[in-house]
Parts: sequence; structure tokens; C-alpha cells
Amino acid sequence: MKTLFTHGHFFAPQSLNAQDDNVFAECLVVENDKIVYVGAQENAPTADDTVDLQNRLVIPGFIDGHVHIMNFGQSLGRLSLLDCTCLEDIRKVIKSFAEAHPSAPRILCRGWMQSSTNGIALASMLDDLDPRPIQIESFDLHSCWCNSAALEEMGVYTAQDPAGGTIHRDENRRPSGLLSENAMMEIVWPFLLKTATLEDMMHALRLAFAAYTEAGYTGLVDMAMEDNMWAVLKPYYEQENPPFHIAAHWLVPFSEDQEANFTHVDRAIQLWHEFNPATSPHFCITGIKLICDGVVDGCTAALTQPYGNRQDPVEPIWPVDMLRAVVQRADAAGLQCAIHAIGDKAVKQAIDVLGEVGTPGRRHRIEHLELTAPEDAKRLGQLGITASVQPVHSDPVILRAWPDLIGPERCQRAFAYKDFAEGGAKLAFGTDAPTAAHLPLPNLYNATTRRSAMEPESSQTTNEHFGLGLAEAVTAATEGAAYARFAENWAGILKEGCRADFVVLDMQWNAEDLLEGKVCETWFAGKRVYATK
Ligand SMILES: [Zn+2]
Repeated sequence: MKTLFTHGHFFAPQSLNAQDDNVFAECLVVENDKIVYVGAQENAPTADDTVDLQNRLVIPGFIDGHVHIMNFGQSLGRLSLLDCTCLEDIRKVIKSFAEAHPSAPRILCRGWMQSSTNGIALASMLDDLDPRPIQIESFDLHSCWCNSAALEEMGVYTAQDPAGGTIHRDENRRPSGLLSENAMMEIVWPFLLKTATLEDMMHALRLAFAAYTEAGYTGLVDMAMEDNMWAVLKPYYEQENPPFHIAAHWLVPFSEDQEANFTHVDRAIQLWHEFNPATSPHFCITGIKLICDGVVDGCTAALTQPYGNRQDPVEPIWPVDMLRAVVQRADAAGLQCAIHAIGDKAVKQAIDVLGEVGTPGRRHRIEHLELTAPEDAKRLGQLGITASVQPVHSDPVILRAWPDLIGPERCQRAFAYKDFAEGGAKLAFGTDAPTAAHLPLPNLYNATTRRSAMEPESSQTTNEHFGLGLAEAVTAATEGAAYARFAENWAGILKEGCRADFVVLDMQWNAEDLLEGKVCETWFAGKRVYATK
């Protein structure tokens, strides 16, 4: 059974120049789950069926190259504080939510912008609101502000600071309410997984995948897989057969005990042998994930020079020898490494290590790359390192604290995508949801116009000269993200022989119009899995 898709603009660029007329083909023919033809209508094979696309755009199904899908699903059920601009707002919103949900065992919130409380986060600021535990995740997911009941139930009052993390304390060394970096990953996340029932987690995944299908995604790469999550994601994938291809990087949380780190690497290697991109392309472990620094707003990103209130530079989380040994162990076994590096110092360390011990062809990647020295931006391409970036994090609205924290000069090196591309690096886009919105079109808007998708009326830009062309950006969100997880031969591109994963968009082919664009239909393996009503 062959279907001809006609009267559309099919994204199949011969070059990445947005002005180029060759960006679009005239028609597409699908047979079962595969694309069998893309090109001029006069040469198309005869089809049994025709779909008229009424002049709309067709691009490959989006692939989110960096997402935390379980956290995203769980966060969909949390109270959002994104619109709160001060403590008073936050308290009001929590109070009314608590009253409306009297039987919830705890009150879980998300989207706290640290700047809305001047970075201050004390349990005492929440304690009189409700006797139940209250947890507030920061917007960037790197810290959690808790009331006393939440600190109590997670055992924080008797806990030591985990390596690479901080339990913030008052002058008597008593936990005061804020947990950051590794304290999030070692205390809060495991607690939330432990208290969630299997059914809660299945429900979270259903919500997450439905939202992703509606947004136009047909694939994703999860960036912090671990055993509890895998134990749910795998049966979910097998039983419910969601319209997605899924790849995952196994998290190796930093420990000063290198044997503990190796244990995580070895677990990833063991799973990789069974589920790698060759043996199980649609559901695989591609490698490991390492977190080498924090975030600028939390003053935990590793920058070469001091910033914020600190007198000394922030050091990367992993000492270089330990990082090298872990990367080498994974690389030698055939695995791909994804390294979280936001500050220029962490980026340099990551590139140095991948350059020293990385095997060509492993497609190692660096996540975020928010501040990079010009020479390091160029080295990505030379070393075959994928630049895995999340344009939505470059929205000018969320960078308002940066000039004060790091100074205007260093801001000029922020989100240097154009440098990465010109240095020959492969770009892969992701959203890092739930740390940011998961929607692909605003993400493309940030990447191209460098203006705010959150406040479109604002004319502020983030280093406009680092912006990408529209065709280049769409490619990074589809083919680039496919390449980054070894799927470019069958996904992320409208090409004969590839799987028929695509989205139908109602929008003008113009970066300025991306925010008005609508995802009308999502097709996965030749089947329509979503359509607007
Ligand atoms: Zn992430």
C-alpha cells in the first residue's frame, strides 16, 4: 500500500541555506512504515492513496536530543511557579493549591526562578503554609527548596553533604531549606522515585509521551537513566508501544570512590551489550552521562575566572584523572559519553579528556556548552564532538541575572552556536525538559532569532550573531539529533529508505513566524499518531 502526500512543502534540503529554493521537495510517497520517494511529483511512483496537505510544511519528526522524560512526566503533575515573580506570589499560589488538594500526601512544585526570591530559600519561608512536606524545584532543576517537613521526611537533618552537592545550612550548621546540585540527585530524586508507585510512574510516562506526540516529536534521548527508571521505562515501552524511538545515557553520578563510579559504568556497559544502537535501534542505551559542573544561576558552573560572590573559581565536579579513567572505560567498551559542561572551564576539561582518550567515531557529546572560549568552540568539530545544545536555555528572559553574575564581557560568549557550526561540529538540539519548555518551535525560535519565546514583545536578544539559519536549526532538531544517537540512516530525515516519521506544520517558512506555527499532525512509522481537532 503506497500513499502519496501532495500539495505540501517537504523539507529535504540540498544545502542548509534558508534562502535556497532547494530546501523543499514537491511530494512524498510512503509505503507501509517507510519513505519510498521524495521529489518532483512527475517522477513519483504510482500510489494507491493520496493525502492532500493543503500547502502546509512537512518536516521530519522532531527528536529531543536531551530530555529527562520521567521527570518531565512527573513535573506535568506538579504545581508550576513559573509565573511567580516574588515570595508573596509563591506563597499565595502554594496556599491555594494546598487548600484545593487536601488529600495529597505532599505538595510538589516546579519552576522556581531563584531571582524571584533573590536566591534566598529557607524552610522558614514556607513552614506556616501547610504542615505537609513542600518541595519546590528550581526552574533549572539543579536545586530544591524544602519546608521543614520535607527536610524531615527525606532524612536531610541527619545527612552529610554528598560529594558535589550542598545541603545549605544556617549558622548552627542545621539544614536551612535548600538542597543543590548532587544533593538533588542523591537525596531528592531517589526519594521521589522511591515514594512514587509503579502506577504513578507509568502514569507520568503516559502524560509525558502524549505531550511529546502532540508537540511533534517521534524520538528522544533521555539524559540520566538509572535502574529505578529503567525498570519502569522498559516495560512501558514493551507493553504500550509508544510512537517513539528512545535512546538513553546512563547516569554515572560523581562519587569520590572511583570504584562506585566504575560500578555505574559497568552497569551501563552490561545493558549496552543487550540494547545498543545496532542490536536494538529503537530502544537503546547509547552510553553514559557525566555531570561536570552545575549552572550559572546557582553559581555552580565551572568558569575559568571567579564570579558571583565567590573569590575563587568554581572547579569542575570531577577531578580530571577520575574523569579520564571513567571516560576511557566507557569508550573502550564502545559506549558514547555525554558530558554536562556549562562553564568554559568545565567545557575545556571535557574537550581535553575526550581529545585524549576518546576513540574517533564514538560520537561523544558535550551537553549545554553555555560559555565557551573561542578556541574550544572550534575544537568540537576538529575532535568530532557533538554540540548538544538546548536553545530554549538561551532565552534572554531567563538570563537576566547573568550580567550581574558574570559581567557583560563574559556574556558575549554565551551560547556560541554559530562558532560550533563554523568549527564543523555536528549540532543536536534538545530542550532539557522539564528544566525548560519541551515545545520544538519556540526552541527553534530561540536558536534562530535569539529573541525571547517567553516574552515575544521584548526585542532583547542573546548574542544575535551566534544565531543559526532556519534550515540549519531544523536540521539540528531532526537529523542532528538522530546522528547524535546513531539513527541518521533511518530517522530524522525525509529520504528514500528512512522511516516515515514526520510532522505537518501550519506555518510560514520564516524564523520570525515560528511562534505562530502549529503542529497539525504527527506521523510515526507511516501512521498518523496525532492530529489537531
Ligand atoms: Zn539535562
